Amino acid sequence: YANPIFAPIRSSIKNMGTLLVIRDITDIKKLETMRSDFVSNVTHELNTPLTSIRGFVDTLKNGAIKDEKVASRFLDIIDIETERLTLLIQDILSLSAIENMEDEKNNNVNNMASIINEVIEILNPKIKDRKINVNIQVNDDITYNCNRNRIKQLIINLTDNAIKYTEKGHIDIICKESDASIIIEVSDTGIGIEEEHIPRLIERFYRVDKGRSRNMGGTGLGLSIVKHIVSLYNGKIEVDSIIGEGTTFRVLLPKKSSVK
Ligand code: ADP
Repeated sequence: YANPIFAPIRSSIKNMGTLLVIRDITDIKKLETMRSDFVSNVTHELNTPLTSIRGFVDTLKNGAIKDEKVASRFLDIIDIETERLTLLIQDILSLSAIENMEDEKNNNVNNMASIINEVIEILNPKIKDRKINVNIQVNDDITYNCNRNRIKQLIINLTDNAIKYTEKGHIDIICKESDASIIIEVSDTGIGIEEEHIPRLIERFYRVDKGRSRNMGGTGLGLSIVKHIVSLYNGKIEVDSIIGEGTTFRVLLPKKSSVK
């Protein structure tokens, strides 16, 4: 009886056993549904830019290439769609690497201020494009035993969202520590999120406004990646948001249990 679902139930614990069996089947069914939903979502998300690229290439081949202005506009669109595909594939690979816990033995004591500085360096071109100030508040001596790239990605994803969904104002990145945890807070003065959406944000490909997310270069996987990293570290995510005023994402990472 390698498969516990088919294991015989001893009569003395019959009720308990039955309950367990039902839960097991439900969990497996749920997992299967989640997997097939994910595959069909991924297929759809990959197909959209591909269809657009193929359409513009065909139009170019059918003569549009002769009109320099039109050709240049179409090439720009092909460029944007190719970039979207690249980001999507990168995010899908990241998710799968985190899920498979690849690289998790690579834990070191990392200085949080230096991780945050690297994040800002990476996002600087995007920050410069917008009318936003980014303030950082972190003590130089805060360290965390973690995989540097994972925690960097977590902060990049939260900060990138703060930039994408903030027209003007400021973004604050705060890192502090309590006895038990490292606390990372990314706040913005952006569009905010309605309460009803908050529990669903960490679902793969869930977006409050699909059009806006696509226009801003979002893949719909950013917060799902954040959630996976946080659960690797047995941490917690909290979200406070007021429509039109802004959003705060707060991540609490326990110091003791590093990776599960
Ligand atoms: P995306 O790539 O679309 O940004 P995410 O998984 O990172 O995907 O985020 C999911 C959705 O949550 C976004 O589409 C957006 O609607 C919402 N969201 C995330 N962060 C913020 C934020 N700081 N302000 C407002 N909305 C946000």
